[in-house]
Amino acid sequence: MNNHLQQLIDLSIIDKDIDAFEPQIEEANYNYEAALAKTKSIESDIENLSNEIKEEEVKKSKNELHLAELSQKLEENSKKSGDVKTEREMKSLQLEEEIAKEQVTFANEEIARLEKIIELKKEQTEVAEASLVELSASLESVKADVDKKLETINKDRQAVFIKKEKLLGEVNQKGLAFYQKIRRWAKNTTVVPVDEQACMGCHMIISDKVYSDVIKAEEITTCPHCGRILYTKPNEE
Ligand SMILES: [Zn+2]
Repeated sequence: MNNHLQQLIDLSIIDKDIDAFEPQIEEANYNYEAALAKTKSIESDIENLSNEIKEEEVKKSKNELHLAELSQKLEENSKKSGDVKTEREMKSLQLEEEIAKEQVTFANEEIARLEKIIELKKEQTEVAEASLVELSASLESVKADVDKKLETINKDRQAVFIKKEKLLGEVNQKGLAFYQKIRRWAKNTTVVPVDEQACMGCHMIISDKVYSDVIKAEEITTCPHCGRILYTKPNEE
């Protein structure tokens, strides 16, 4: 086989290997990033709960203030009742008292309702805080695991880069430029095998003449349909 062709086949394999590291790195990082995202989401839940609790506390203290005012009013009314002269005054005082008592009942119910909400939100906060503690503890071991995986991947990648550097030093520059031009659009299918007289890049049948050129492999032959570099696997030669 033409040595230049062999070099381009080798280069295409190395480039494919280099590209294959990306998803491996992403996969390694995924677990850690997922755990980190979960931590952030729980932290924001806790913050939201804390704000909501504050809001409910404000509502509760408004009701408590109102309650204090009402009880003061009721106290004043009971003092006044001693000085009542007419039946009309009496009725008016009674009406005021009834209204105030209704408001007291309502305020007490509202406070009880708000307290339940606050209690529930505090329970939710405790649960969230507990899972945050658990998650933070596991986050470290996840990080260590990811770092170890990345270290291995980087070592392998470094070895492939060295192989590529070496090959780039030997490869025919004209052939390399040709390869790189095709690779811009064909990516990892720049150099493809021919299978049953079809280009494995575009899957079109090539003519007998082109096929025999590919088999001879004396020169670099490209697919007449798509322009990819063609070769035959050893068992087909
Ligand atoms: Zn083709």
